[in-house]
Amino acid sequence: DWDARLRLRSRDELGRLGHSINGLAASLQRYRDSRRTFFSNISHELRTPVTYLQGYAKVLNDGLVNTDEEKKQSLSIIYQESVRLEQLIHDLFDLAKMEEGQLSLAIEPVDLKEVAQTAAQKVMIKAEQKNIGLHVELPDHMPHLLGDRGRMEQILLNLLENAIRYTENGRVSVQLIDQKKTAVMTVSDTGIGIPEDELPYIFERFYRVEKSRARQYGGTGLGLSIVKTYVEMQDGTIQVTSRRGKGTTFTLRFPYKKHRGKENTPS
Ligand code: ADP
Repeated sequence: DWDARLRLRSRDELGRLGHSINGLAASLQRYRDSRRTFFSNISHELRTPVTYLQGYAKVLNDGLVNTDEEKKQSLSIIYQESVRLEQLIHDLFDLAKMEEGQLSLAIEPVDLKEVAQTAAQKVMIKAEQKNIGLHVELPDHMPHLLGDRGRMEQILLNLLENAIRYTENGRVSVQLIDQKKTAVMTVSDTGIGIPEDELPYIFERFYRVEKSRARQYGGTGLGLSIVKTYVEMQDGTIQVTSRRGKGTTFTLRFPYKKHRGKENTPS
């Protein structure tokens, strides 16, 4: 009976439509929830350093600090927290641009060896201050990669800064490997490591392993989420392995792809 079959079909379709509307409503709700969490995280993260700045500035201003040592300590906290605030504003600015999809890439042939050396040079002082040996291992030959040089450097800087931040008296190394179709980049350290059950979350915005250890080490909880976005915008992948108390390794892979008809430029 055609009539009955048609009715059945439209009931099916109605059912499916209802189902997808429910799905849509659920994802809209998830989006709203994640935005709400995001903004409450931002305001919390911004307020914390400001509270420290105000508190210590007030204590100094009211003459409540007696010894030179205490004064030095207070000023040091004010300095550290202002650095944190600056970092946070910088990261948020990048994040805002990502949200608006305004983050465009300047694609060009990139010499990863040069990028690795430059990034390592920039963090050298931080490593020395913590008595960390910083090693750069490069192959003799590495084809140029089509990517965004500035973003590549930012990726490496974020990973190296983390490696140094979460390591004491150990070793941090950045290594490049040329694997035919892929450029492989690793950043490893012999630092405190990340508990295995927390590994799936570290690329999330504002996620920080053990809140209590977070303040001690500084940082914003945004670094890795920015790294992941930059990596994926350049068709790369990022993986992490870690052992508590032993160290952490981040492995990045970028295809030497052809871009807009351009050939890879050999170095
Ligand atoms: P943060 O600014 O707090 O370092 P990230 O997004 O860069 O934020 O990293 C998220 C969290 O992952 C950090 O809070 C830290 O606990 C952990 N983490 C990142 N890199 C390392 C590392 N090399 N060694 C140990 N823990 C790390």
